Amino acid sequence: MPSLRFTSPDITAYSAIEIHMESAKQLIVGALSGKAGAALLRPLMSGRATIFMLHRFHCPEAGVCGHDLGFVRAALEYLRSNKYELVSLRELYDRIAPDAPPVRRAVAFTIDDGYFDHAHVAAPIFSAFDCPVTTFLTTGFLDKQLWFWWDQIEYIFESTRRPSILVTFGPKKLELQVSEPISRAKAADDFTDFCKTLSTEDRRGVVTQLAGAAEVDVPASPPARYAPMTWDAVPPAEKRGMEFGPHTVTHPILAQSSDEQAAAEVAESWDRLQQEATNPVPIFCYPNGQFSDFGGREIEVVRHEGMRGAVSGEPGYFDRDQILRDSDERFRVRRFAFPDDLTDVIQYVSGIERVKQVLRGEA
Ligand SMILES: [Zn+2]
Repeated sequence: MPSLRFTSPDITAYSAIEIHMESAKQLIVGALSGKAGAALLRPLMSGRATIFMLHRFHCPEAGVCGHDLGFVRAALEYLRSNKYELVSLRELYDRIAPDAPPVRRAVAFTIDDGYFDHAHVAAPIFSAFDCPVTTFLTTGFLDKQLWFWWDQIEYIFESTRRPSILVTFGPKKLELQVSEPISRAKAADDFTDFCKTLSTEDRRGVVTQLAGAAEVDVPASPPARYAPMTWDAVPPAEKRGMEFGPHTVTHPILAQSSDEQAAAEVAESWDRLQQEATNPVPIFCYPNGQFSDFGGREIEVVRHEGMRGAVSGEPGYFDRDQILRDSDERFRVRRFAFPDDLTDVIQYVSGIERVKQVLRGEA
């Protein structure tokens, strides 16, 4: 019991409250995910579906720390045995049509970016549960033109032997303490968050500056743990039930790109994907994916390319009625980050999260 180690009565009390909250959540989830609870939640979930967003998959032999494979299997087992409908993202978009079967207890899985573990680790797991999954590919990454800037940052922070690193950006001075593992991990996270606010050019500049100050040589191509899947891995993954959609060429934040770059990133990634995939999904995925990372201009570009829709990284449900009311909504569909706890998975798919949204006053 970690709370026994605390000496302050306040902290012990707080810890006890935390434990009670956690038990209460499990009780509520347990009650509502049963038969009677499902009947109560059904009207709230009418026309709504859960789309999960995943990233890397645990692969210790390659040094990749990601989604726990046993947990992913347990979640798929739960969804299958509780008769959730596991659908592809494409199928979910088919269900928008007025004469299509209603969306009911539907769950779709998506994976972002196109790392090697998506084809080699994730595809067999989803296939074993006959669960469709859509992977969004950054085509320049598969074409070996780049490796991701956030991986370069992680690599620099892990490789440096300096106790601290100073990076400047305009009047801003970032003094990064990296002598201890905890401060190093926090500095890497803070620096990554800071980079998310910058344009592609500024970000490139500060990452180069970081590497110099950290005295780390960043190789031109990614070390094995950060490698992309190969294009050759795409057809076998498709045979296992994985589908592929476009996720730009170089993964820039589109809202911070010029008109020309934003249009080219969407068009060229879709063209490249159509050359390599047997049956690519005409649904786009915005890099970074918060509502501030794309806007009306990007929606127009994606629509102009003939896409049926696009997904964001903003949390929330796929909402058929909202999509029918507003023609832009199919280009800003929300997804939930895949949790690492079954109680949280149940909370999303059963609609308990919807109850919380209503209580919070969210539409
Ligand atoms: Zn991405």
